[in-house]
Amino acid sequence: MIYENTLAFAQQMDSKDGLKGYRDKFYFPLMHGKKTIYFTGNSLGLQPKTTQDYVLNELEDWATFGVEGHFHARNKWLSYHEQFAAPVAKIVGALPAEIVVMNQLTVNLHLLMVSFYRPNNKRYKILCEAKAFPSDQYAMQSQVKFHGYNPGDAIIEIAAREGENCIRDEDIIEAIEKNKDSLAMILIGGVNYFTGQVFDMKAITEAGHKAGAIVGFDLAHAAGNLKLHLHDWNVDFACWCSYKYLNSGPGGVAGVYINERHLTEKDIPRFSGWWGHDKGTRFKMEKDFVPIPSAEAWQMSNAPVLSMAAHKAAVDIFDEAGMDALVEKAELLTGYLEFVIDEINKSLEQKLEIITPRDKTQRGCQLSVVAHGRGKDLFNKLTEAGVISDWREPNVIRCAPVPLYNSFEDVFTFGEILKSSL
Ligand SMILES: *Cc1c(COP(=O)(O)O)cnc(C)c1O
Repeated sequence: MIYENTLAFAQQMDSKDGLKGYRDKFYFPLMHGKKTIYFTGNSLGLQPKTTQDYVLNELEDWATFGVEGHFHARNKWLSYHEQFAAPVAKIVGALPAEIVVMNQLTVNLHLLMVSFYRPNNKRYKILCEAKAFPSDQYAMQSQVKFHGYNPGDAIIEIAAREGENCIRDEDIIEAIEKNKDSLAMILIGGVNYFTGQVFDMKAITEAGHKAGAIVGFDLAHAAGNLKLHLHDWNVDFACWCSYKYLNSGPGGVAGVYINERHLTEKDIPRFSGWWGHDKGTRFKMEKDFVPIPSAEAWQMSNAPVLSMAAHKAAVDIFDEAGMDALVEKAELLTGYLEFVIDEINKSLEQKLEIITPRDKTQRGCQLSVVAHGRGKDLFNKLTEAGVISDWREPNVIRCAPVPLYNSFEDVFTFGEILKSSL
């Protein structure tokens, strides 16, 4: 693609964009009466205009039916979560039975570690990326301590090489091989939240299995952003939140994938609740737990229908747009943002540095930009001019042009604002 840093070029790209109709399906925050340039869909996705109706329907059905809504609501609450298995499986590349939507991300990470982090005195270590999202670090540390091990010894962090920003996949794989006798589990963020780097999940899974370890991924920044093939890659487990790229609202209900080979494993440790129990006999209220032979066995509580209604509105949009089209546009749009920043750099003495990989197979739609020599006032100027991006201390601006609702014109206008703010 040959890009041009002009309004005419951006508008021409928008007019050819097969997904352009989706922009009007979302609410954009306004600033000074104008739509903002919203580049933080990686942090909190925008609200689909349909969400209110989906949630209102459930409130109405609750008013109309009371408890009978479990059976008579337009979408029966008893089986409400079942609607997600097929469309969410498509988003992450899984079989429907491998998916359940429940709880929130960090909670699910803990529940999955109950099942998949089973250390013994020989194998007790967890391998992860350095500077993982703090919640993941706390979850891993507390699980390690819960089993009586010392996080300093049991957690192996793989860092970027001196002078580099991203972690090399080959370094992760080498560390897996080196620690093959003591590794219990590998847990990595599919996309690093800070650099936007995508890890080679297929190769890491293969290497992990060869070393005899369980392999899981936190896909908070990957679900709805990348083409994933969790089942074909043979990943053991994964989890993600729904409020980032998946646009399901603040603190929205989260998603879990568990590979089918674990679904019928008899003695897998699990924290159980009645919503994981065999549906045919659940309401006999008997004391012995009979797991559903799908990822639903990990469900403990009945479904949070209001939060799920918001998720349903968003998932229906993904199902219609399709990940193939979204990823195709994301590559073009992110490539355009990269081009525009490179153009601006030509006239700068102290250049902006994109620390996200240049290789488009190693990134999604986020670019992390180091604003060398410029403090937070650059970010404040951008905000004042109507750009909502994300600042990370000490000097990183994260920008995510999201294919569902961002346009090429957004990227062009962002560039103009950036230029005048420097
Ligand atoms: C956003 C994010 C979280 C947030 O966890 P919650 O339980 O949803 O609050 C955790 N881990 C990663 C990698 C994230 O990107």
